[in-house]
Amino acid sequence: MEITFWGTRGSIASPGPDTLIYGGNTTCVEINLCSGRTVIVDSGTGIRCLGDSLLERGKALDLVLLITHIHWDHVSGFPFFGPLFRENTRIVVDGFSRGIDGLKHVFSNKYVDGTWPLRFEDLKACIEPRNNLASGAMTLDSATVTSHRLQHPQGGLGFRFTDASGRLVFLTDNELRNDGWSGTCFKDFVKFCRDADLLVHDCQYLPEELNVRKGWGHSDPESVARLAHEAAAKRLVLFHHDPWRKDAEVSRMVERCAELLARSGTPIEVTGAREGSTLKV
Ligand SMILES: [Zn+2]
Ligand SMILES: [Zn+2]
Repeated sequence: MEITFWGTRGSIASPGPDTLIYGGNTTCVEINLCSGRTVIVDSGTGIRCLGDSLLERGKALDLVLLITHIHWDHVSGFPFFGPLFRENTRIVVDGFSRGIDGLKHVFSNKYVDGTWPLRFEDLKACIEPRNNLASGAMTLDSATVTSHRLQHPQGGLGFRFTDASGRLVFLTDNELRNDGWSGTCFKDFVKFCRDADLLVHDCQYLPEELNVRKGWGHSDPESVARLAHEAAAKRLVLFHHDPWRKDAEVSRMVERCAELLARSGTPIEVTGAREGSTLKV
C-alpha cells in the first residue's frame, strides 16, 4: 500500500513562495492498495493534479472516492477533476453520509444559481454514491476500510486501511481532546489508531493558538504526539497545515512534535505531509 499527497493544506489553498516545500493545495490524498486499486480521500484543490496524473496513466479508471466531510477545503476541487469528463471513468463515492451532496453543491446549490458553468448531471463519468462506511466496514480486494467519527464542527469521518502490507490511518480535521463528544474522546482515537504503521493526523495549530481556537476541530503537536505514543503508531505524518503557516514554521512544528516523542521515549518517525510525496506502508 502507498499514499501520495496531492493536497496537504487546510482551510484554503495557499500557493506562493512560503509554501513551496509542504504545498499549497487543500486536502486530497491518493491511496494505492496492494491490489493496485486507487482510493482517493477528499476532493480539495489537490485533486486537479491527481486527475491529470490518472489520465496520463491512460487506462479505464475504476476509482473509490472517500469523503471525510464537506467543508469547502475538502470538496472544492471536484469540478477540476479531469476524469469526470470521460465516459470510461467509474467513481464510487463513500464515506461521510452527505459527501455526495457536498460534491453536487460545488456545481450548484439551491440558494443561488450561476456558481459554476457546468451541471453535475452533465458529467460523463459514472458516479455511484454508496453509504457503506458510515455504518460499517468496506472490503476492497484484500483491504478492509473502517471509519471513525471526527471531533469536528458538523462532523465527519476518518479512515483506517488494513491491507497485506500494513495499517494506514488517515484522520484530518479532528480535535483531540479528553472531553470530546461521545465516541470521539481521546481514548476512542487511541483505539482506532492502535498499531498503525502510518498515522496521518491533522496538526493545524500550535498549543498556544488552540487557546482561542478550541472547538474549531483541529489538533496540535502535543496531542498528536500523545496519540501516536499511546496508540503505538510506527510513523506519524502531520497534515492539514494552516494556510498562514510558512514552510519553516511547519518544519518547526514537526521538530516540536519529534522532541515530544523523543522525550516520551517513543522511537516514532515524524514528518510533515509534503505535496507530491509518496510514502509506502
Ligand atoms: Zn479542512
Ligand atoms: Zn473541516
